[in-house]
Amino acid sequence: TSVEQLTLDQAKKEIGPLRDQITQWGKEYYEQDNPTVEDYVYDRQYQRLVQIEQRFPELQTTDSPTQRVGGEVESQLTKVRHEIPMLSMGDVFSIEELMDFNQRQQENRDVDVEPEYNLELKIDGLSLSLVYENGKLVQGSTRGNGNIGEDVTENVKTIKSVPQVLPEPLSVEFRGECYMPKESFAKLNAQREADGQPVFANPRNAAAGSLRQLDPKVTAKRDLDTFMYYVPEYQKIGVTTQAEALDKMRELGFKVNPNNRVVHNRQEIEDYIKEYTAKRDQLAYGIDGIVEKVNDLETEEALGNTVKVPRWEIAYKFPPEEQATVVRDIEWTV
Ligand code: NAD
Repeated sequence: TSVEQLTLDQAKKEIGPLRDQITQWGKEYYEQDNPTVEDYVYDRQYQRLVQIEQRFPELQTTDSPTQRVGGEVESQLTKVRHEIPMLSMGDVFSIEELMDFNQRQQENRDVDVEPEYNLELKIDGLSLSLVYENGKLVQGSTRGNGNIGEDVTENVKTIKSVPQVLPEPLSVEFRGECYMPKESFAKLNAQREADGQPVFANPRNAAAGSLRQLDPKVTAKRDLDTFMYYVPEYQKIGVTTQAEALDKMRELGFKVNPNNRVVHNRQEIEDYIKEYTAKRDQLAYGIDGIVEKVNDLETEEALGNTVKVPRWEIAYKFPPEEQATVVRDIEWTV
């Protein structure tokens, strides 16, 4: 039944098991690094839950997966509190939805001019926070449930692209993505298969499983890499736009993805999406979409966040590749 046709009674019956299912998939994905369904299956059910809660606000609960970031932190790693929460991100699945999002964002700001956006690739890994004090790396952590993450400082020190000392004595937190290049993922899985160990479902899970290790020596043997993309307290590095923040991070010695682009209108956004949808397979790392961020950081701050997602950024997700394969298989057998 489509959500528009649901009665309140039907919605009440459906929503409990739907939430439980999504929570269970979240546990497998975020805590155990071992998803049992494809992302598009998860996304579809998640969207349905969002729609049911929108249509019947009386069925909303604060512990719904739509109101919480990631999973709980149940690993044996030491816990870290994020002074500035590490949030999730809203997503859209078409240009039209993206334009609607931009329209609503503009209405929120109550201005006529379309803002400048910085477009970036959405790297398929896991979020990483790096804290520096007086230019020295003092803490690396995962997102966890957004407020409490896991301490992976010693593990992070084994990643070559993470600078342990900055050329300036900054006391700043930097955020980005930790990922495993496609080739390293293929090699790791081939080796695991040869050793009779379970293989990782995808590079994202391999990266998460490799970073969230109790023994840094294990992490050191995995080929992890990083792309940094966010400085929550941007004033501390003297920049005013997201594009400048990326440049400044490059200057400081971080690895920053080179494919960001500042754009101003629908055409430019569509061109970027088309270009990277086509280039996606040739990249050495996995991407699952593009991220659109308001470029001006004061505007970004003014837009702020909901409990779960920023209002100044949104992910455009590529159509699922796996789904296309399934559909094709069905067509062939018919
Ligand atoms: P998300 O991972 O889709 O998006 C938010 C994240 O994007 C950020 O936390 C950040 O780490 C990352 N990111 C990558 N590049 C970025 C960039 N340039 N700028 C900013 N951020 C960037 O959101 P989420 O809430 O963590 O997870 C939802 C995703 O996880 C969905 O894609 C869903 O399909 C998948 N998931 C799958 C299952 C499953 O069982 N298959 C379960 C749970 C979640």
